Amino acid sequence: MEITSLAAHEIQALIRAGKISPKEVIHALARRIEEVDPVIHGYLSHDVERAIAEAETVDVNLPLGGVPVSIKDVINVKDHPCGCASKILEGYVAPYDATVIARLRAAGAIPFGRLNMDEFAMGSSTENSAFGPTRNPWDTTRIPGGSSGGSAAVVAADEAFAALGTDTGGSIRQPAALCGRVGLKPTYGRVSRYGLVAFASSLDQVGPITKDVRDAALLMNIIAGSDKFDSTTLDEPVPDYTAGLEKGVKSLKLGLPKEYFIEGLDPQVERSVRTAVAQLESLGAEVVELSLPHTEFALSTYYIIAPAEASANLARFDGVRYGFRSTGANVLLYHYVKTREEVFGPEVKRRIILGTYVLSSGYYDAYYLRAQKVRALIRQDFAKAFEKVDAIVCPTSPTPAFKLGERTSDPLSMYLADVFTLAANIAGICGISVPCGFVEREGKRLPVGLQVLGKELNESTLLQVGYAYEQATEWNKPKPQFD
Ligand code: GLN
Repeated sequence: MEITSLAAHEIQALIRAGKISPKEVIHALARRIEEVDPVIHGYLSHDVERAIAEAETVDVNLPLGGVPVSIKDVINVKDHPCGCASKILEGYVAPYDATVIARLRAAGAIPFGRLNMDEFAMGSSTENSAFGPTRNPWDTTRIPGGSSGGSAAVVAADEAFAALGTDTGGSIRQPAALCGRVGLKPTYGRVSRYGLVAFASSLDQVGPITKDVRDAALLMNIIAGSDKFDSTTLDEPVPDYTAGLEKGVKSLKLGLPKEYFIEGLDPQVERSVRTAVAQLESLGAEVVELSLPHTEFALSTYYIIAPAEASANLARFDGVRYGFRSTGANVLLYHYVKTREEVFGPEVKRRIILGTYVLSSGYYDAYYLRAQKVRALIRQDFAKAFEKVDAIVCPTSPTPAFKLGERTSDPLSMYLADVFTLAANIAGICGISVPCGFVEREGKRLPVGLQVLGKELNESTLLQVGYAYEQATEWNKPKPQFD
């Protein structure tokens, strides 16, 4: 068996037992990348020599001692390029480690490579990368999801043991679902955003994409917790997420929201999800129907708030402070405009225009302020639901992976890919996607994801449900065949 097919906790056990050295692990990973990444294109770059140098000195007795963890290109890793898959950050090298990276290192992990993504995490297919799309390992004519498509694809293709992604409206859960792997979006404030390039600051969270639920718990143990460099982190103790994994679902009440089973949900995806819910029931969970009445407004609310925050956050890319600088302008203002005009991709420009529009005087009240009010209602829906249930179960994505190019000329249909994931970010709650089967398209098996949503700081319950389901079904075990 190829060792790269192992999960992070499995390879760590081998390293700890002295059966393989961290250096050999890096070599095996590099070989696998060489073999499959020309097709998948999940990595924007990786530095084998540096990883080997780090492997020489690593303490193998730490929780992730000697395990390379691959990183989305939106998180600063000291002395490595960090580009958000954008040309505007060309030449930018991170001057410091993000908190999540510092914590990974402290746990013995080796941050590895830069993973492809939609430019500045804006998108659902990784096609907005300035460096070309990533392909879905289950069918390489299809998208891997996004914006953390690189993270999900490399984990699914066994060219990473585990990865970090970010989720502003679904970008961890949706690609994890479409690539048949596990993705967890933590509660807002559970994980530090220090050193993460901001897209929409009130929605962004870093989280793991992994081969199994145990790895998601393990990574959460390491990256979660308050951080003096991010004042929005929650000052709450971090439980041992691996400790509660085996509790089962017998004592749990799960809610099935009727607004998530609507027109537009692929009938085969619906069948997989309903089967998964029935399986959870047979494992002992109680399932009740419930309503989240403001769900239909989540998409429009998100597409006001996220672009508004993005337009402010992206103002810093002016050709003076970071990366790419346009030449030839002799007036300062024109220099800014020229730099941004030349290298931002069309989706990033669309968001900036949308965002500045909804924030402009005259429109602020009608759009931005109103969206904030609806945000409060969506948050209330969940608060009420979690008075009655321990977690909510629903589909992660309305469809399986679609074809490359299928939605690129229609932004609205692209935005709909996240219709079931956005609300969690708007409300600040946590969510996980776990594989729950396959649908067949053109002779290929395409993964489906089951989403489990939990109330603030209740990641343990999500992991507990995900683990019980995974143990019973092993939908995370099949491996994609591709060439
Ligand atoms: N697809 C959504 C967007 O384009 C969410 C992206 C994300 O979570 N980063 O904004």
